Amino acid sequence: MDVSKAAVFIGPQKPFEIQEFPVPEVGPGAVLVKMQMAAVCGSDVHKWHDPKSKGPIIMGHENVGLVAQIGRGIAEDAIGQQLKEGDRIVFRAAPCGRCYDCTVGLSCHVTPHYGMLPADQAPYLTGGFSEYLYLEPHPWVLKIPDEMSTERALMAVIGNHTVLLGIEKIDGIQLSDTVVVQGAGPIGMGALVQTKVMGAKKVIVIGGPSNRLKLAREIGADEVVDMAEYPTPEARVERVKELTRGIGPDVVVECSGANTAVQEGLEMVRKGGKYLVIGQATDYGQQPINPSLITLKAVRMEGAMASTAPFGYIVRSVEAMNSVVPFPVEKLITHKYPLAGINEAIKVHESYEAMIPVIMPNA
Ligand SMILES: [Zn+2]
Ligand SMILES: [Zn+2]
Repeated sequence: MDVSKAAVFIGPQKPFEIQEFPVPEVGPGAVLVKMQMAAVCGSDVHKWHDPKSKGPIIMGHENVGLVAQIGRGIAEDAIGQQLKEGDRIVFRAAPCGRCYDCTVGLSCHVTPHYGMLPADQAPYLTGGFSEYLYLEPHPWVLKIPDEMSTERALMAVIGNHTVLLGIEKIDGIQLSDTVVVQGAGPIGMGALVQTKVMGAKKVIVIGGPSNRLKLAREIGADEVVDMAEYPTPEARVERVKELTRGIGPDVVVECSGANTAVQEGLEMVRKGGKYLVIGQATDYGQQPINPSLITLKAVRMEGAMASTAPFGYIVRSVEAMNSVVPFPVEKLITHKYPLAGINEAIKVHESYEAMIPVIMPNA
């Protein structure tokens, strides 16, 4: 293959364009990936709207693909499994190991994030909405078990690894905890799945619209609170109190990104409870919250961000999806498109008609 077609973000609110890029020669330690499935993420849709965004970018940062070509000097994946052409993989760029953040054990700020890089500079093929993607030398790669579906493998890298990191930061879910998940999008579904398998006795998902809540029920939600039925924060707090014997949930996980959600979550959580905030990835500026709730209820609060999760969380997430998670999470992938369907995929994501639309660049 000499050229690769890709769906390219060329500027805010402009339709994506299908363009061709040269496929680079695979250098020592590098990997060329033939893309199988790339999810359209809420952050892609956000970036498409944001007037500050600059194209061209080949988006697509939640990816599963096949090893098309391996450079010299790379023989194994991140857990020592032999790696060969044709293997199905998930991947990240590895940290540089030399910057300040790496030195003190934080997430590397130098390493490239695939799906977010300029596409007008070599090696061009840096996102999942493309027939081929080029991994810079010595990436973090994990081979997907043969018996696992590509859909399930993709789900493991959408939200679930972020939730694993976050739940660890609040010292886990205790057996029989009651959990509220704010937000019925892909990250909320990750929080639902992970807290259920960690032993929560009741998980309540707040969100909408009804098609998303129906899916939440199908993958294990015990209760749902529909925003259409409970349109105000007061009504939702009241409903959650009813569902938790007037006490409030032991754990609240914020996955909505809504700008009033944090105050609402603080009002819901029980005294001495835990609040994990992972949905506020978009900076809307200052939000009205009443911090006395944190003190008076002695709430433990934590944040977690997907890009700060070391690859080990992805390894665990994939293994859990393969052997621990009993729910039919494949159902969350509701829409599948070829490369040329990218604009439609953005549309169904935005309208909440889809839970997760995916692009299948080589289908
Ligand atoms: Zn994302
Ligand atoms: Zn670094």
